[in-house]
Amino acid sequence: MTSPLTPSVWDNAAADALYGISKWGAGYFAISDKGNLCVTPDVSKPHMQIDFASVIEDIQSQHIQFPVVVRFHDVLRAQVVQLNQAFNHCIQEADYNGAYRGVYPVKVNQMREVVEEIVDAGKDYHYGLEAGSKAELLTVLAYNTTADALTILNGYKDDEFVQLAFLAQKIGRKVLIVVEKFSELKSIVRIAKELGEQPMIGLRAKMSVKGRGKWEGSGGDRAKFGLTIAEIINAGKYLAQENMGDCLKLLHFHIGSQLTDIRAVKDAINEGALIYAELRHLGFNLEYVDIGGGLGIDYDGTKSTNDSSRNYSIDEYVADVVYGMKEVCDLEKVPHPTLVSESGRAITAHHSCVITEIMGEIRPDSAQVDLTVGADEHVLLTNMRELASSLESATNLQEVFNDASQYKEQANSAFKLRVIGLTELAQVETLYWQIMQQLQQRYTGAEFVPEEIQALAFDLSSQYLCNFSIFQSAADTWAIDQILPVVPLTRLNEVPTVNCSLVDITCDSDGKIDQFAVGREISNVLPMHPLRDNEKYHLGLFLTGAYQDVMGDMHNLFGRLNEVHIFSYDDDPQDFYIEEVVQGSSVENVLSVMQYNPHSMAIDVKRLIDKRVAQGQMNPREGVRWTDFYEDCLRGYTYLKTE
Ligand SMILES: *Cc1c(COP(=O)(O)O)cnc(C)c1O
Repeated sequence: MTSPLTPSVWDNAAADALYGISKWGAGYFAISDKGNLCVTPDVSKPHMQIDFASVIEDIQSQHIQFPVVVRFHDVLRAQVVQLNQAFNHCIQEADYNGAYRGVYPVKVNQMREVVEEIVDAGKDYHYGLEAGSKAELLTVLAYNTTADALTILNGYKDDEFVQLAFLAQKIGRKVLIVVEKFSELKSIVRIAKELGEQPMIGLRAKMSVKGRGKWEGSGGDRAKFGLTIAEIINAGKYLAQENMGDCLKLLHFHIGSQLTDIRAVKDAINEGALIYAELRHLGFNLEYVDIGGGLGIDYDGTKSTNDSSRNYSIDEYVADVVYGMKEVCDLEKVPHPTLVSESGRAITAHHSCVITEIMGEIRPDSAQVDLTVGADEHVLLTNMRELASSLESATNLQEVFNDASQYKEQANSAFKLRVIGLTELAQVETLYWQIMQQLQQRYTGAEFVPEEIQALAFDLSSQYLCNFSIFQSAADTWAIDQILPVVPLTRLNEVPTVNCSLVDITCDSDGKIDQFAVGREISNVLPMHPLRDNEKYHLGLFLTGAYQDVMGDMHNLFGRLNEVHIFSYDDDPQDFYIEEVVQGSSVENVLSVMQYNPHSMAIDVKRLIDKRVAQGQMNPREGVRWTDFYEDCLRGYTYLKTE
């Protein structure tokens, strides 16, 4: 049986279309001849393909437990290069007189290895870092080592934050302190005078343009951050009064993340450019315009204004920024500013994914009971039996559906009233699901399918139980219905015949994924392959490198995942090697975060075991085994063990 979502001809192209791989994959992901998903980390070297089956093998041979985060460092580097080159090319082509000095906002993924790789890949482009909190500033201060690269400081600031900014300046960083609210300006001026330093100050504008999508609240009058136009004018005046007018160097705006519609980008550039030009006319020699983040990712592969998509490419985005800024500046006869952008999502989303193992299948109709007719069975059961046997010749299927549903409800009530027993109820349920199965088959290919029967497809679909936690690894699928691509990593040359949604191992019914991009549609099930005995089935959850990697929580005490960091390597037969393994949280780690003392817990448990041994209720060998076992589990991984 093929799934209604699966095309009739099955080949790699069909698999690619079904899972949207080349649509969301940005050229990095494809299906190999063997039917496995693979990564081409360097798009200019298409012969270098890293096969996920080999990655999984390597992970297993090193006894690293699933779920695992896999980072492709080459992909991260490639994204940094792509964004910088896009700006540089466009600046040349447009005869734009300013440069591009991008910064990576570390909040999007603060992992040290990620930040280090981005800084290294961006060296030749003077690519810098952005921090939005004291902890991030302390990091950026130590890691933004490229001379000439900018350090941009956003977020609300106390005096300590401002003092740290001056420390960064004193050790040679090009620091721009962006004022989010007026009072910050006063403390910057005061501390600058105390220290006898000249800061570089930016002003964040509250924009009237709102981005569309989940983050539209970052723009508009009720935006949390930024100065109104009146406040910007006053800020300029205040700085001039304090003889610090020359310190005003940058105008900043950020209208939201994951901007889905390019029109919002154009509008924001236009509005921002006009504010910049006005400040120039007022005599402030601003050098930089920082357009914030927002460059979107096509998570659902539809290239549309869906919340999980965007209707433009990186090149189109860059062109709108560069040409938009130039046009306003030329009309206003002000110099072209150096352009700064703070793209985080677009830099990091593709480089990491989560590999999880399917632990089993959950079906509503999986258990069937013996349907032999018992002595004096209840009429409800007889009715259901007759309905099932007459189904083949039935013409009014809707009526069959209605009757079956009614008998099932009545049987439930009858059970509660002790009119029928548990065995009879189980027989009614078994018959009910048999009827539903047949109804669904009878409607396959029909032109009109009633709503209830359409819903049946979901009720009858499987749930694949995945060894991971949505709350740790894909927080946005739960919090904001973000769609993330899910793809089986092997067997892509086989027709996927099982429609299923995913459930995780948390004890939370929200721990599920039931929204998938299938072809161009959003579906609550995704076709997968039937599970086989004694064979593991691995799924990849993709585009998790931005936010998902670092925003997860420890719901049910499932902690951080094991990670493998992969580099491509042409001379290797598999084209890659695992450069680093980062251990995920142990049970001990997560318990300590919650204020437990695992060491004393182990001592307490040992004491209880020793007592049993002393009382002769457990033999000493057994006692030692149980003690060791408890301690091993404390040191172990928080997820399910499958080996
Ligand atoms: C979050 C944030 C960013 C990053 O946005 P992306 O959409 O991930 O590129 C940039 N700038 C500021 C001020 C932010 O708050």
